[in-house]
Amino acid sequence: MFQAILIEKSETGQMARLTEVDEKDLPEGDVTVRVGWSTLNYKDALAITGKGPVVRRFPMIPGIDLAGVVEASDNPDWKPGDKVVLNGWGVGETHWGGLAKKARLRGDWLVPLEPAFTTRQAMAIGTAGYTAMLCVMALERHGVSPGEGPVLVTGAAGGVGSVAVALLSKLGHEVVAVTGREEETDYLKRLGASDVLPRSEFTEPGRPLAKERWAGAVDVAGGQVLANVCASMRYRGTVAACGLAAGMSFPATVAPFILRGVTLVGIDSVMCPQPERREAWRRLAVDLDTALLEGLCQTVELAECIPAADRLLAGQVRGRVVVPLEGG
Ligand code: NAP
Repeated sequence: MFQAILIEKSETGQMARLTEVDEKDLPEGDVTVRVGWSTLNYKDALAITGKGPVVRRFPMIPGIDLAGVVEASDNPDWKPGDKVVLNGWGVGETHWGGLAKKARLRGDWLVPLEPAFTTRQAMAIGTAGYTAMLCVMALERHGVSPGEGPVLVTGAAGGVGSVAVALLSKLGHEVVAVTGREEETDYLKRLGASDVLPRSEFTEPGRPLAKERWAGAVDVAGGQVLANVCASMRYRGTVAACGLAAGMSFPATVAPFILRGVTLVGIDSVMCPQPERREAWRRLAVDLDTALLEGLCQTVELAECIPAADRLLAGQVRGRVVVPLEGG
């Protein structure tokens, strides 16, 4: 038996609880992992609270991320003792996930833990941080270089946003952070933001084309915020869009794209092919200042993940949440 958060569905709705699960009920897979650390992402909070249709099979152990040690493997790529990281692939949605002391997974989903990181640090980064790196790589692919103009990061005090600010700043970009929490201004400046703007500047419907301001942008918000970001990009600027914290809609016009040559790049971390995800983790090991990681994460025990999910969706959690399963 091992401890896990389990989400069950009944006629009255879905409910998450901390419980003991039998190892024989683990799903199919060729690698069994002893989970060291997991994390709580926005998507995990949607799964636990049932506020978003994340879980597609019940009962489900949530947790789209985990880092741990291989316990048993029938996969030639992995052997007992290997330190591994998993992000996405539908884990925590259709396949039992990381908010548990054990997981059985497909070996071809795993990436090796970068030697630069402990399992705890890998989870302080988690899907949020790895997605932030995918966004940075997308900006680079589209020619956004340091010195060419400010790069905007929305939802900056959240998980993706915090890591994006830290990465872009370390890479030499001038980073402007957008937050709904003015009280996080000092935190964002410590991560490397040169300026912090209130979210309210981006939430009202604006003109199809606004003043040209940003050479690049990382957007976690979607909705009206993303539309306004696109409208204020500089000529040939690039926006990496990865989130929907402000909504699924996209009330924009084509003006920024056809009159300013703006590029809107969609970022998906879940099914991202192995070569790109391994490159993202390799880059994180080089380009993220690990000294900043402690300051941007907080520890939440497994049993506390359920109330923490509500706080996260209410936008009350700063940065990243790490969840100890076996202490390291
Ligand atoms: P998070 O830690 O909860 O951060 C989200 C941040 O968005 C909040 O901290 C808040 O930042 C801001 N925000 C909240 N409500 C908002 C609103 N109504 N309008 C504008 N901004 C708002 O979540 P996360 O883990 O960073 O994830 C952020 C988003 O990216 C989520 O939508 C998530 O689903 C998505 N995501 C997508 C991928 C992918 O593969 N595409 C991967 C990871 C995450 P401030 O308080 O600073 O304003």
